[in-house]
Amino acid sequence: MKIDPTVSWMQERRPASHWEKSRDGSAQVICNLSPRHCRIDDGQTGHCGVRGNVGGELFTFNYGKSVEATMEFIETEAVNHFRPGAKILSLGNIGCMMSCDFCQNWRTSQVRHLDPAEVRRYSPQDIIDTCKMLGIKVISWTYNDPVVWHEFVVETSRMAQREGIATLYKSAFYIETEAVDELIDCIDIFSISLKSIEDRFYRKFTGGAHLQPILDMIRRVHASGRHLEISQLLVTDRNDAEEETRRTNAWILENLGDRVPLHYVAFHPAYLYMATTRTPPEVVLRARQLALEAGIKYCYAGNMFREGVADTRCPACGATTVSRFGLNARPVGLRADGCCSQCGTQSDVKDPLGGVEPDASHDLPPGATRSGEFLWHREANSVHIEVGADPASVCPIRVERLGTGDVAARTYFVGGILRRIIVSRQTDDETGIRVTIPDKATFTFYPVLDRAHFPVSEDIDSELSGYRKDREAMAAHQPSE
Ligand code: SF4
Repeated sequence: MKIDPTVSWMQERRPASHWEKSRDGSAQVICNLSPRHCRIDDGQTGHCGVRGNVGGELFTFNYGKSVEATMEFIETEAVNHFRPGAKILSLGNIGCMMSCDFCQNWRTSQVRHLDPAEVRRYSPQDIIDTCKMLGIKVISWTYNDPVVWHEFVVETSRMAQREGIATLYKSAFYIETEAVDELIDCIDIFSISLKSIEDRFYRKFTGGAHLQPILDMIRRVHASGRHLEISQLLVTDRNDAEEETRRTNAWILENLGDRVPLHYVAFHPAYLYMATTRTPPEVVLRARQLALEAGIKYCYAGNMFREGVADTRCPACGATTVSRFGLNARPVGLRADGCCSQCGTQSDVKDPLGGVEPDASHDLPPGATRSGEFLWHREANSVHIEVGADPASVCPIRVERLGTGDVAARTYFVGGILRRIIVSRQTDDETGIRVTIPDKATFTFYPVLDRAHFPVSEDIDSELSGYRKDREAMAAHQPSE
């Protein structure tokens, strides 16, 4: 892709790390951040579209450039064994070292489709200040893929480390060894999306990436002792056959042991792979069953809103210690010391009660009368609530559950760089939510398909038909096989 100075987010750049000059005497540079090792001509970017050659040197164009930050819960990132239910500040940027034709976040990962109006600008200090202002104790690098944001992620994570804020790295992990070693130094939680156990899947559907470097780097993180969880999106008719699931399970057991949590996650049609269906629930549940039968101790079904498919059980007596529904978690069978309340065995979950917060006031914040309801949709069981308010002050958002009498209302807060929170269905019988905020603020609902940051829209049905039109228009960009 050409570096285009008329595109607003390409107008500022920072020196990049992990590159070298070509040894053939040309002005080409070689980027060594990901195993693609793009050879980049002057005036061009690499495959990701956000690292480019200017006058024989490599620069990053996405330093400090993010999409809308969102307050989510740690389960959103396929992390079930670290502070269940913890609030996280989720930050995504732009570009990706892969170009999966089924990408669930393609509007920001594939920069040729990016709307420059979606790009926000934050400094590392802005992020830390927001976490401190709102009492958020985990920063999540997520959405498109943090690999291509490396310089900003490392700088901010080191700062977070000094402030006692944990960091979470959600990635497809197509990244080189030296960069991984920098991450191991400053990232607390790795949630790696292993897209398939077959190299041919990567070659064909991810824009020509390879499997082996990803497996090698997963093993490297595991050997480091950092917290690690693995997820796999079961893409309809692509990687969801039982035989492939068995091979994934076998690799995990052989290389990571039986205690690294595994998540099999339902997919929704997206980007260029629209002529298909969501992963049938029975396929996800069967994959989970195969993993448990193979001997993996913890396997969870993701993107499914039903009871019992993502609970954590005591490894000794089988009692439920953490109950989950969709993206919500409740420690239900743990003593105050974090051990199983039935048999006293130490939990395999790290800091198992650290995500539990004292319930904020159930009363309306003073002066808060502006309210609206969002009813759960057959496709959307989560919603982003975006608030328009003075960023210098903290704005409360009260969320009541509709159609159920037993789940208490909660009050959440936005401020600083954060204007958006996610709320998702918490029980089977819940029909929707009612939101109340102060009169001086405004809010908008954006339904979310599964846990993706995009697509979001005020009308899921028209959004889906819009994607089908986009897909036809974008057929020319189909990744080569
Ligand atoms: S990060 Fe990967 S895709 Fe981007 S320029 Fe570097 S080698 Fe190429």
